Amino acid sequence: MTKYIFCTGGVVSSVGKGVTAAAIGRILKARGLKVAIQKLDPYLNVDPGTMSPYQHGEVFVTADGAETDLDLGHYERFIDEHLNRTCNVTAGRVYMNVLEKERRGDYLGGTIQVIPHITNEIKRCIVLVAKETNADVVIVEVGGTVGDIESQPFLEAIRQMRQGIGRNDALFIHVTYLPHIGATGELKTKPTQHSVRELRSMGIQPQVIVARSDHEVEKELCDKIALFCDVDQEAVIPLVTTDLLYGVPLLLEDAGLGNYLVEALGLPRRKPELGDWRAMTARMRALTENGHAPVRIGIVGKYVELHDAYMSVKEALYHAASAQNRRLEIEWLYSGDLEKDRGWDVLESVDGIVVPGGFGYRGIEGKILAARFARERKVPYLGLCLGMQTMCIEFARDVLGYEDANSSEFETNSEHTVIDLMHEQRAVTELGGTMRLGVYPCRLVAGSKAGSAYGNADCVEERHRHRFEFNNVYRNAFADAGMLFSGISPDGHLVEIAEVQDHPFMVGSQFHPEFLSRPNAPHPLFSKLVEAALEHGKTR
Ligand code: GLN
Repeated sequence: MTKYIFCTGGVVSSVGKGVTAAAIGRILKARGLKVAIQKLDPYLNVDPGTMSPYQHGEVFVTADGAETDLDLGHYERFIDEHLNRTCNVTAGRVYMNVLEKERRGDYLGGTIQVIPHITNEIKRCIVLVAKETNADVVIVEVGGTVGDIESQPFLEAIRQMRQGIGRNDALFIHVTYLPHIGATGELKTKPTQHSVRELRSMGIQPQVIVARSDHEVEKELCDKIALFCDVDQEAVIPLVTTDLLYGVPLLLEDAGLGNYLVEALGLPRRKPELGDWRAMTARMRALTENGHAPVRIGIVGKYVELHDAYMSVKEALYHAASAQNRRLEIEWLYSGDLEKDRGWDVLESVDGIVVPGGFGYRGIEGKILAARFARERKVPYLGLCLGMQTMCIEFARDVLGYEDANSSEFETNSEHTVIDLMHEQRAVTELGGTMRLGVYPCRLVAGSKAGSAYGNADCVEERHRHRFEFNNVYRNAFADAGMLFSGISPDGHLVEIAEVQDHPFMVGSQFHPEFLSRPNAPHPLFSKLVEAALEHGKTR
């Protein structure tokens, strides 16, 4: 029998509901429970895959190739499970499923309504997670803030679900925010009270309130929330803003949330195994203290004003740096600036460079310039998807002398399209969900830098999201000029990893290794980049 925890948000958005859900997952997993987490997004896009990173932040790709909300990245990093396409459902997807059935005539002439048809479909999508993952506990995070018109069908659906499942097997957690009034130095509970009232008007009484705050929350304030919101005193969990993301599970655990949830849901009472996690966060915390030497990595991208657009890249770098006992300092560099001769001093100052994924021509020439700088100056470089492609274009232009080398994504008239549309993409007309997505195997070349990074494994599996690929016509020319294709698809057709041989570490992957990095298990390519960056730092 699966247990359900429904997380809603109140007062304001962006209070870290996703991290809270992920952290709850970790403290339950620490009790030996199998956990899955689902995000319900009330917007009408079918998935975030076609949304601008400025609107939405990173698109996280699951192993089974779904393009999902970046909160799924937090979930996977915290609970260390591979989630799947059932774990992110948008209102758009729900409506699409219902409308497809309607067009097929499945409703036999009935009138299709938000209640019950949309709410039933939402409930079906929630139950599907339990079926597909076999989890003991499914945590369901409802995106948006209580009171939004568009989240109403989702709230109604979870209300009905709890009614159907029963009190012992499902509960509601409401994550709110306590504003701080500067003039009086007080934290205020009124917005939380209002938000709970709003939730109650939908028929939902939260059993736990996680009260986010930028300031210490006194016990009396928690008791006041308990009294006015009608929850147990021990079920008001203060969660003060922390600079250490991975410390959140411990804050919740130490506030008693783990035991409370287990008790409320009738789950086995086990001592949580959080020793390793505690040791890891203690190490991470020590690194933030002054005096700790940093490793400085430049991320040269297109959406750098919005760090969320590179959430997994940022975290993967952090995991790798922390594991090597280094404080991570990221320099965010807009690639378009390099084209205008700006930002070079910053590039000069970093120990390593990452060129992350992306789409479209804006800023591409700057990324190519960054790759040239890395190659010529022997600065460690990791190219992720588009970053691998720009590394190859740079090599073609400068080493092979193909001055017009390009990707056919940006220039179809070039005589040297060293990056070209994948064959199976040629017939694709719709943009949503049609890229090469999800996990594919990659055979490694023994003795290569990538091969040794992966501990000389024969074959690895990594997650993808792209339409373009290295153009095999040019494989020999590149190889003769010193580029090693150190990762290839098992059928031999697709370049998955390329590396510049005469260089301490210049590696590009067609896949996105950042999605597989974990706080307690950094990804080998990021680890090698940081290692090489530390070496490079010494020589400067
Ligand atoms: N735009 C490139 C492609 O489609 C790279 C995609 C990416 O970086 N995720 O192949």
